[in-house]
Amino acid sequence: MSLYAELHRHLGGSVVPRILWRYFQRNDSQKAQRFPEYAEFEDFYTRPRNTLDEYLELHTLVESVQTSQTLPYFIYRLIRGAYIFENLAYLELRYTPYLRTPEHLTQSQRIDCMAEIVEIVGKASSLTEYPIVTSQILCTHSRLPYEVNRAIVDLAAQKREYVCGVDVAGGDAHYAERLDEFVELYAYARKLNLNTTGHLYETVDGCYPELLPYLMRIGHGIQIPLKHPELLPQLAARRQCLEVCPTTYLKTGTLDDIRQLKLVFDRCFDAGVDIAICTDNAGLHNVRLPFEYENLLTQDVIDFRQLQACQEASFRHAFAWPYQQPPASLLSGLYQEAPSKTGDGYPGTREFVTQS
Ligand SMILES: [Zn+2]
Repeated sequence: MSLYAELHRHLGGSVVPRILWRYFQRNDSQKAQRFPEYAEFEDFYTRPRNTLDEYLELHTLVESVQTSQTLPYFIYRLIRGAYIFENLAYLELRYTPYLRTPEHLTQSQRIDCMAEIVEIVGKASSLTEYPIVTSQILCTHSRLPYEVNRAIVDLAAQKREYVCGVDVAGGDAHYAERLDEFVELYAYARKLNLNTTGHLYETVDGCYPELLPYLMRIGHGIQIPLKHPELLPQLAARRQCLEVCPTTYLKTGTLDDIRQLKLVFDRCFDAGVDIAICTDNAGLHNVRLPFEYENLLTQDVIDFRQLQACQEASFRHAFAWPYQQPPASLLSGLYQEAPSKTGDGYPGTREFVTQS
């Protein structure tokens, strides 16, 4: 059995349409009236958008309902689905904690509320019945003031039991006017010994070589192999990994056809740059991680050997996976040692259950 690691999933985009629709039916009469039928809601929620900005607007719909009270409801269903349907052994969940605090409070009050949100997400993600190793990535945001973003980096450093890294999100075209600020924030994060990733080189408007040296992983980064392949040797030397989220580029209008990703994979493999295949917004897309894998295979973007290399890279570049090896090697050892079923019970199985 294969168990997978997911390195790039947004909390806001992780709610599958049926869970969100049902939540509205139960708790939000206004939205329930707007979408009385599920099929109509699914169409609205999952249809492709013309631009990345238009696509990101949808996140605000989910962010508005993810409060300190409701987060456990959504996270329980997210972890349950990830365990049952996606075979995830490891999940990094990312979000901007500030955007889950009450809007009517002042900026400094909202900053003070962020720590509680991180604890709620951390506790809600740890479920004994659906055991997945989870950690959080806190996203700074291109539309938030510097003070808030700085407080998000500080919080990541203070809550290391729940947080494994920081990110920048909010649409990569919007970093341009504040590039120095984000460079400074990333330098600060590295000084605090935080792991770093960042939404960069996702679209043609989001190419900032100034930020690249600060990133341990690159959120998307597909424009590097597509438009700036001369940068690939630097990425390989820094052992930076691309987090490639295939369905996103079709939903945001960044690519017209998933087969355009073949060049991304081929150039990265040739240059020795690792790729982790991720979902980005599995709920919003209604596409779970195993289907991202399968789509790439059936569209001849990659072959099985490349897929397995990417799956292993995901564990290698995971910020908080606590083992040297992916889980497959732990399970293989278990199978080899398993005693015959005709013996006295199933001690091998029992041992596995206890350890998990
Ligand atoms: Zn993303």
